[in-house]
Amino acid sequence: MTTLLINSVYRATEGEGIHIGIPQIFVRFQGCHIGCVNCDSKETWEFDPAFTKSLDEVMEQVETLSQNIIKRVSITGGDPLHPSHIPSLVALIKELKARNYYLNIEAAGTRIVKEVFDQVDFISYDFKTPSTQVRTSKDLLLRFIQEYGHKAQIKAVVADKKDFEAVYDVYHFIKGSVNLTTPWCLTPCFEPGEAFPMNRFQQVVQLNENFGLPFRVIGQQHKWVYGPEAKLV
Ligand code: SF4
Repeated sequence: MTTLLINSVYRATEGEGIHIGIPQIFVRFQGCHIGCVNCDSKETWEFDPAFTKSLDEVMEQVETLSQNIIKRVSITGGDPLHPSHIPSLVALIKELKARNYYLNIEAAGTRIVKEVFDQVDFISYDFKTPSTQVRTSKDLLLRFIQEYGHKAQIKAVVADKKDFEAVYDVYHFIKGSVNLTTPWCLTPCFEPGEAFPMNRFQQVVQLNENFGLPFRVIGQQHKWVYGPEAKLV
């Protein structure tokens, strides 16, 4: 029997970057060893067997939430691409595709997993900025865009000017090597417990306008609709 470590399955009108505002079903894996310091879902870090579910249970939850109306699933985490998740993730993707779901995966930008990326419809791939204290390899990002840029976006959480400059630099590194049509989205950092960071948001917008508009600035809408602490929204 296939089992998975799943934090939650829920329906929301949310999505990263260009998927903002689209009703979809989220399957959130439990377990992440990446350790972004400004992570807003630290409760998903532990690989805790108490979160074990069968594939049938997960599919039943998805189908109940879908009602055959919402045929779109985003797979997120945690880190759904952690090697220990891959066999169960591949089984889940196969089952969802057999039932005609459009599949997006939210990838942390630390791995390219061919058996997953080849099967999904879209990949939201992170570039980790300095404020996360996690490094994204420029060469890995270039390879990702060469192989999967036609069905992907690059997403970066931006806390300050240093973060913006890091994204700007890597964007120009990549642009020198490929014909870049992949959208790049900047998400102004909005940490749990803080009020809506209007100044930070405006700073990111201004930086983008001042440096030639290569990116789309898109916030995390659910945090201002429901508040930064709300889960499953
Ligand atoms: S990869 Fe995602 S879940 Fe893991 S630490 Fe970073 S933001 Fe949090």
